[in-house]
Amino acid sequence: MKAFDYYRAESPADVIGTDARPIAGGTNLLDLMKHQVETPDRLADVNHVGLDGIERDGDGLRVGALVRNSDLAADPSVREGWPLLSRAILAGASGQIRNRATTGGNLMQRTRCYYFYDLDTPCNKRAPGSGCSAIGGVNRIHAILGASGDCIATYPGDMAVAMSALDAVVEVEGPNGRREIAATDFHRLPGDAPQRDNDLQPGEMILSVRLPAPLGGKHIYRKVRDRRSYAFALVSVAAVVVMDAGRMSTVRLAFGGVAHKPWRVPAAEALLQGQAPSPDLFDRAADAVLDGATGQGHNDFKIPLLRRTLNAVLAEATEGSK
Ligand SMILES: Cc1cc2nc3c(=O)[nH]c(=O)nc-3n(C[C@H](O)[C@H](O)[C@H](O)COP(=O)(O)OP(=O)(O)OC[C@H]3O[C@@H](n4cnc5c(N)ncnc54)[C@H](O)[C@@H]3O)c2cc1C
Ligand code: SF4
Repeated sequence: MKAFDYYRAESPADVIGTDARPIAGGTNLLDLMKHQVETPDRLADVNHVGLDGIERDGDGLRVGALVRNSDLAADPSVREGWPLLSRAILAGASGQIRNRATTGGNLMQRTRCYYFYDLDTPCNKRAPGSGCSAIGGVNRIHAILGASGDCIATYPGDMAVAMSALDAVVEVEGPNGRREIAATDFHRLPGDAPQRDNDLQPGEMILSVRLPAPLGGKHIYRKVRDRRSYAFALVSVAAVVVMDAGRMSTVRLAFGGVAHKPWRVPAAEALLQGQAPSPDLFDRAADAVLDGATGQGHNDFKIPLLRRTLNAVLAEATEGSK
């Protein structure tokens, strides 16, 4: 590991606008530093800056950036009003990691592309301009949607997929003040700058995530992976479906493991909303979600897998409702 300076920040102001890299739970950043994928000169320990509360915000909820994943998943208000978020978090990592991992750090976690971690192979995300080893290489876990000729990596997390479906808002502060970013827009597509995972700018820090008022209805987070636990999603589907008089009055869907960001398709939600559930309709929604989907060889299976998982989730979300 390369030598670095370390200081303990006592408030967000000690970090915002500086060149120091925040370290929260350290469950991702330290691994990256040990592999020398990331070599920050200065670390700001943000574990003592506050931002560790979950508070009511009107009908919604404000979650501090330092709230641990375990605490967020177990919070009674979250379990009651936003169970999708609780379920998505509990589908990720392990109990020990969730006890350390934080809301801000989870949003910022980096891809699990094998080549990103292997300093001996070209990778545009790690070393811009060097090439992409996954294109034409081993790409079983890679993107089928929104990829570019420069990078086909996926965003690997679960929590942000639920936040995207729930229309959460990420609150950040930088040298030019505070701003809000819709969770759906927080992560970006790789384009020709895959070294940038998200919209956070240099010197900015995540302060909190705001959840809008609960939607009600059924909340399902279905994560398909190689093992039952301690594995990243091959495909995940986050769904909220509210039924009214036998029709789907509200539908929110987001997909993980398939793109460089949690994937939302408003056209698929619009197709389902106001309609009575049927296998044919679910299939047409899957067509809309998979519009433009492209396999890279080893990950071709994700296309039918996403279709089947969405169909199963929608069937479960609507079954028994008149
Ligand atoms: C074996 C293993 C399995 C895992 N499985 C899953 C899984 O199945 N699903 C899943 O979703 N995740 C999984 N994870 C990832 C885990 O959820 C993340 O490592 C964790 O959420 C990161 O949070 P952290 O607080 O430890 O972040 P850190 O490692 O401290 O930081 C990560 C990044 O966030 C930045 N950062 C931290 N806080 C802030 C802030 N407030 N503002 C701006 N930047 C900030 C840091 O600078 C760094 O770049 C797994 C991790 C491991 C090691
Ligand atoms: S997919 Fe992205 S992260 Fe993986 S090797 Fe290619 S450029 Fe690097």
